[in-house]
Amino acid sequence: MAQLNAKRQPAKIYFRIGERSYDYNMTRELTCIVCPMGCSLKVELTDGKVTAISGNTCKRGEEYAENECTNPQRTVTTTIMCEDGAPIAVKTDRPVPKEKIFEVMKLVNKKVASLPVSVGDVLLDDVFGSNIVATASRGE
Ligand code: SF4
Repeated sequence: MAQLNAKRQPAKIYFRIGERSYDYNMTRELTCIVCPMGCSLKVELTDGKVTAISGNTCKRGEEYAENECTNPQRTVTTTIMCEDGAPIAVKTDRPVPKEKIFEVMKLVNKKVASLPVSVGDVLLDDVFGSNIVATASRGE
């Protein structure tokens, strides 16, 4: 009898972003990383969609919060080995999906750059919609 009187809990629905899963209806707290102000943001999600954003001081924070909760992306900074055996600093020229960073690193780790290399040279192209460009010069 006790079981018949117990209130049924609504089923929880989860969605995944990369390796993490989230409740469909929830509040996420984020720190905006667009500028050094580091505003604390609150994002309300209903059925997996952003319904309210607060705590941002400017429009860029709102865009960051929306993207972070629906399609998180990151600029990857790393190094590529050159033919002389020394590394050179590189980065993606635009953000890549956060869930693809491991695959980006696998491609970067296979690459050996020919010298000379100048700042801005594309060392790998079309990596998940981005190019891997040198952020330093060597062998010029
Ligand atoms: S909300 Fe605007 S002011 Fe605040 S950290 Fe983000 S970009 Fe900077």
